[in-house]
Amino acid sequence: MHLRNPQTLLAAFLILLTGLLCPALAQSISKTAEGFDLPVAPPNGEGYYKSRGFRAGGHLGEDWLVTDGSSARSLGKPVHAIGNGLVVLARDILVAWGNVVVIRHSWIENRQLRFADSLYAHLDRIQVREGQQVSRGQLIGTIGNNHGMYPAHLHFEIHKDLTIGVNHAGGTRDLGSYWLPTEFIMARRHLAGGGRNVPTPAANFLLPSPDHPWTFHRKGRSSKERGKTKGSSHSRSGSPSSHSRSSGTYKVNRYSDPYTKSQ
Ligand SMILES: [Zn+2]
Repeated sequence: MHLRNPQTLLAAFLILLTGLLCPALAQSISKTAEGFDLPVAPPNGEGYYKSRGFRAGGHLGEDWLVTDGSSARSLGKPVHAIGNGLVVLARDILVAWGNVVVIRHSWIENRQLRFADSLYAHLDRIQVREGQQVSRGQLIGTIGNNHGMYPAHLHFEIHKDLTIGVNHAGGTRDLGSYWLPTEFIMARRHLAGGGRNVPTPAANFLLPSPDHPWTFHRKGRSSKERGKTKGSSHSRSGSPSSHSRSSGTYKVNRYSDPYTKSQ
């Protein structure tokens, strides 16, 4: 290589810069889970019950309430991280979701590093920020009613498919893309290899924008590539699970900067 050539020098510099920057942008370090607990009253959810469970093609998570059945009593109750992880989404995205937290977990199972996202929706308050490392059982927010849209409850999901985020069209709407939340947790109460620092892939979710609340946007995909899809409202049962199809163009709107101008 002729390093005295300015163009070669520039190329070498760019390669070096890319090499230095990309890993930092593409992933973060986070701690592997040593086990998982329920997101309400951890570890065992005492005093809470599951009012709705997972149904493929329909309700893609679980709803949790205080046991006395009064949703008003659930409002403001603490919500906890199910395990160690990295907060990849923590914001109010309105529409059927309201305040949402998504935590990316890593764990070691059968000597393999695995990843999953846990999602906590309709929160009254969010008490973590994006990029924050959280520990098992850490307070991340409180149970809410999505700005009065629903009776207060926690909507809780676990994603196998790390591209889903808050866009249910991003996965297969069945156990190919989702874990059964309670079953996932109960099968992984104590994990070997917890507490290790591992590279964790950054999230790049589709997100709705305030001016097009039912349209999901992401960098690098045109409407032509995506094909025409139809808009829909959330289900009558009060779940965000059916706000899956979106329409219109796809624009730069990464999770890290979703409210940049979409026009
Ligand atoms: Zn729900």
